[in-house]
Amino acid sequence: MSTIAALNREGAPLPLDQKLVDGLRAALRGPLLLGGDAGYEEARSVWNAMIDRRPALVARCLGTADVVAGVRFARESGIALSIKGGGHNISGLAVAEGGLMLDLSLMRGVWVDPRSRLARAQGGCLLGDVDRETQLHGLAAVLGFVSATGVAGLTLGGGFGYVSRRFGWTSDNVRSMDVVAADGRLVHASEEENPDLFWGLRGGGGNFGVLTGVEYVLHPVGPEIYGGAVAWRADDAPGVLAMFREAAAEAPPELTLVAAMRFAPPAPWLDKDVHGKPIVMLLACHIGDVAKAEKQLAPIKAFGKPVGDILQRRPYVTQQSLLDATQPRGRRYYWKSEYLPGIEGEMLAKVTEHAARITSPHSAVIVFQLGGAVGSRPNDHSAVGNRDAAAVLNVTAAWERKEEDPTHVEWARSTWRDMRRFSTGGTYVNFLTEEETGERVAAAYGKNLARLAEIKARWDPTNLFRTNKNVVPAAR
Ligand SMILES: Cc1cc2nc3c(=O)[nH]c(=O)nc-3n(C[C@H](O)[C@H](O)[C@H](O)COP(=O)(O)OP(=O)(O)OC[C@H]3O[C@@H](n4cnc5c(N)ncnc54)[C@H](O)[C@@H]3O)c2cc1C
Repeated sequence: MSTIAALNREGAPLPLDQKLVDGLRAALRGPLLLGGDAGYEEARSVWNAMIDRRPALVARCLGTADVVAGVRFARESGIALSIKGGGHNISGLAVAEGGLMLDLSLMRGVWVDPRSRLARAQGGCLLGDVDRETQLHGLAAVLGFVSATGVAGLTLGGGFGYVSRRFGWTSDNVRSMDVVAADGRLVHASEEENPDLFWGLRGGGGNFGVLTGVEYVLHPVGPEIYGGAVAWRADDAPGVLAMFREAAAEAPPELTLVAAMRFAPPAPWLDKDVHGKPIVMLLACHIGDVAKAEKQLAPIKAFGKPVGDILQRRPYVTQQSLLDATQPRGRRYYWKSEYLPGIEGEMLAKVTEHAARITSPHSAVIVFQLGGAVGSRPNDHSAVGNRDAAAVLNVTAAWERKEEDPTHVEWARSTWRDMRRFSTGGTYVNFLTEEETGERVAAAYGKNLARLAEIKARWDPTNLFRTNKNVVPAAR
């Protein structure tokens, strides 16, 4: 009898009977792909080209029933299981070598109820899918900075973006979730139903089940806001970053600022003679009164001699995709990240120093402002850790050629080693790289780790869902 080579959850060989696989195929409405099938290579690939894993089976789910069939198959066969939402995780957590990948990327429906200010999104939606539909009504969910990111991974890990200082984490703005649990049951989780599961799902990563749908609380935002970016030559960094520091300290919750240092890409909004040269950039998004925002941000536009300025009145959806071109799918990426207790002068001076050593034209050092509503709820509100963070430092190496891996990875690592002294000690689960497990995962979940382990023991005692920043079930 023919078998298909797979790996079990411990990574040991698991030859799968062809009949068993045929049974899964028959149970699915979407296609089941194996190596060599049309679409397999595309389905197994993710945003980060450093990730090159080959699942034995890819189930391209078309609905919740497909997800249920997939989870049951994984549970009964013992095959390693992974879930692909937007495929944007830096660690490539969507892909388990030799496993069954439940690929939700065809499940991208969004339904908006403007009267109750709620949106329901399927588990394979990208951020842009949700913004596009909610902005028709002048409403927005709290989402992240790059529109091709998956809503499921972002929300399960906490999620922050341009409007988090006003409304909190993405997961603070979730009304309910539909989840296929480890026992194959479809479960609804909210404050009223399965509240322990709901608590863990909001920040605890993909540890508890497959998210097939999420209900977001929406807020009036835009459709016109005041936002964009201004850039200067890197020589101007001390003055620009001092301005960033002061502006961030005074910013109302409606305003979010981001500072980035990198080489100028050949973007039309940047002066031609600066392309390929080091620059410092401030991104801003103000979702309050547009006229007031224009006045408030005028000093940024007036500062020194900008080499590019697209800070202006604009549709919120264009703000939400402003950074997309800087993060194309298929480059090689390696990140290091820390939460910061404040935006300090000495820390910013070090950012400038390490940016001057950048080894690739696509790499950057970025400081995202947090604070405001990000820290306004109690620490045990949900599994989201590190609510006290005032900012996130992200050292993002990006390049194209495999043979250059060691150079760019080392730049990111050495920068991070030096910058760690400015950290709160906490880090963001959604920014952890492949090798960051154990202590780094504990640093991401913070004080909430013990409760997460208890919930894991209740909802996934055999650790079926382990292709994530894994929480080991508590001993009972
Ligand atoms: C360019 C870029 C920009 C980013 N910007 C931000 C940002 O602004 N704010 C922010 O908070 N984060 C940001 N992130 C981090 C992002 O939130 C994480 O990478 C997140 O894991 C991506 O989710 P995904 O669905 O695209 O990932 P995937 O790689 O598909 O999955 C990531 C993890 O989530 C699990 N998962 C995915 N879908 C499901 C599902 N339906 N049910 C259960 N588990 C699932 C997977 O099993 C895996 O463990 C960014 C990442 C990138 C690459």
